[in-house]
Amino acid sequence: MSKIILKNFLIFLLIFLVIAALFSTYNATAEKPLAVGIDQLITQIQNEEVSQIIVRDAKLEITLNNGKKETSKKESTDSLSTLLKNYNIDPAKMLKVKIDVKENEGFGFWAITLLPIFVPLLLIGVFIYIMMRQVQGANTKAMSFGQSQARELHQKGKSKTTFKTVAGCKEAKEELSEVVEFLRSPKKFLQMGAKIPKGVLLMGAPGTGKTLLAKAVAGEANVPFFSISGSEFVEMFVGVGASRVRDLFKRAKKSAPCIIFIDEIDAVGRQRGAGLGGSHDEREQTLNQILVEMDGMETKINVIVMAATNRPDILDPALLRPGRFDRRIVLDMPDINDREEILKVHAENKPFSADVDLRKVAERTPGFSGADLANALNEGAILAARRNKKSIDQIDILESIEKVLLGPERRSHILNDKEKKITAYHEAGHALIAHELPNSDPVHKVSIISRGHAAGYTLKMPIEDKHLHSRSEFIDELAVFLGGWVAEKETFGEVTTGASNDLMQATKLAKSLITQYGMDEDLGPRTFGEREELIFLGKEIHEQRDYSDKTAEMIDQSITNLISQAQKTAKSILTKHKDQLDKIVEALLKKETLERGDFEALFKK
Ligand code: ADP
Ligand code: ZN
Repeated sequence: MSKIILKNFLIFLLIFLVIAALFSTYNATAEKPLAVGIDQLITQIQNEEVSQIIVRDAKLEITLNNGKKETSKKESTDSLSTLLKNYNIDPAKMLKVKIDVKENEGFGFWAITLLPIFVPLLLIGVFIYIMMRQVQGANTKAMSFGQSQARELHQKGKSKTTFKTVAGCKEAKEELSEVVEFLRSPKKFLQMGAKIPKGVLLMGAPGTGKTLLAKAVAGEANVPFFSISGSEFVEMFVGVGASRVRDLFKRAKKSAPCIIFIDEIDAVGRQRGAGLGGSHDEREQTLNQILVEMDGMETKINVIVMAATNRPDILDPALLRPGRFDRRIVLDMPDINDREEILKVHAENKPFSADVDLRKVAERTPGFSGADLANALNEGAILAARRNKKSIDQIDILESIEKVLLGPERRSHILNDKEKKITAYHEAGHALIAHELPNSDPVHKVSIISRGHAAGYTLKMPIEDKHLHSRSEFIDELAVFLGGWVAEKETFGEVTTGASNDLMQATKLAKSLITQYGMDEDLGPRTFGEREELIFLGKEIHEQRDYSDKTAEMIDQSITNLISQAQKTAKSILTKHKDQLDKIVEALLKKETLERGDFEALFKK
């Protein structure tokens, strides 16, 4: 703002200087006439040298016969003729002088008289004008504060998102094709007396393609797409959210049929009165306004609200009532076939070498969301470009998967020889136990190159996607977690900090086994503790204890038992196959990274 003021000020200074310059030239061009006294004028008239006298008030402008100009002054009260008479000039000589009496006039005169008044007035006026404009600017900003910041998308031509763009998600697409029908030909349904649903709730972990699907529905139905995130409704001031909702629906109704997409609806649609997070007054008002708008929409108006959330469990039940978000669609993490499809979609217009096998890539990426897969392929393309290749090789993609999975390799993070040896024994411990135990996933890769925070890593991958896990799998998994710790302890007599993350994961797994899966003999088939979050989304916020102190002790004891059992298993395997362990360590120290083939070759006699 101060910049604008400065700029304006400079402009006016410039104009002022130009005007001033103009006046100075105006004065300079007129040849300055000689000022003479009345006596001399009389003498000149007597000598018949004067041809004309112009009288302007008290000022006399005299033109001589020879063309020269002079000025003189008289008293303003006396007229020139009286004056001349008083000097006793011969009337015949007076006749020869042309006398002109003029009022004050002319641009110069007016400019000179008025400018001193007008310039300050003008400056003040301009100043007020600038101030007004700025205040107005602030005003319009304040006015637009309550307007929604929804982005409006009209999809056209080739870049249109359609169901083809979304790979997998078959059931979701089937359900949504109904919504597309509503948008395309609402009459068909209205004639049957059917009410067109107004709200669709998309539920699923981040990156599973909720936004993409909503966009695809708009693309398929060829309607505009308004998108806004739930958190954008909530501002510092109470009432803004509600007014933004009103504005959004007003805009949408104008371009009906259309889709309103509200991402992260949980930001406003949390259970009311839950008291989690600040400003819940504002959230409540916003939520109420959304509900009011949805309820108040006439059936004729074809606006469908799609909302996305990854936390359906915390949504206010009012949102889920019939007539509101009564269509609910769950998007799961893609399985191996879906992953292959998603990879194919994102592989379009990327040059791949002949050796690229997307099925293999899909096999290697259990637990990846659509967004992760897109990201992995993109990283692969970047890697290939940085290596100045003409096309993307399988190896680029596999490396980028590991990067997405574990963080970038840190080759610069060089371990000294001692650390290298410890890390090698640690990772070899994990790998050997994973190899020996029947219920563990096969080892895909072992490495002592540090990645992210880990000094080394052992990558296990299931052969196929698993949806159910058994107790024996978990028990073996616990032994694998402890393999690193035990290997360090057995070889060097003490452990390092490198094992801390393993221990944390082992403890967490043991606890879930007892408290969530009912897999403990003594504690039996029940859960302990109420979690706020759904487990399938993989997060918990806080746990409420619903058991006695005595049970808590038992749980602690069971966790300790499970872990010490795992420790024993690990120890017995590592002592029994000590020579194998040394072999793996030797290979690791030499090559740093062992792929699955190299690793399994070590076990052949
Ligand atoms: P969400 O909204 O669920 O967090 P997005 O819809 O924003 O996830 O997905 C992020 C990106 O991941 C998409 O832009 C797309 O590139 C990719 N993606 C996710 N799911 C799929 C899918 N089923 N098919 C193709 N691409 C997908
Ligand atoms: Zn480890």
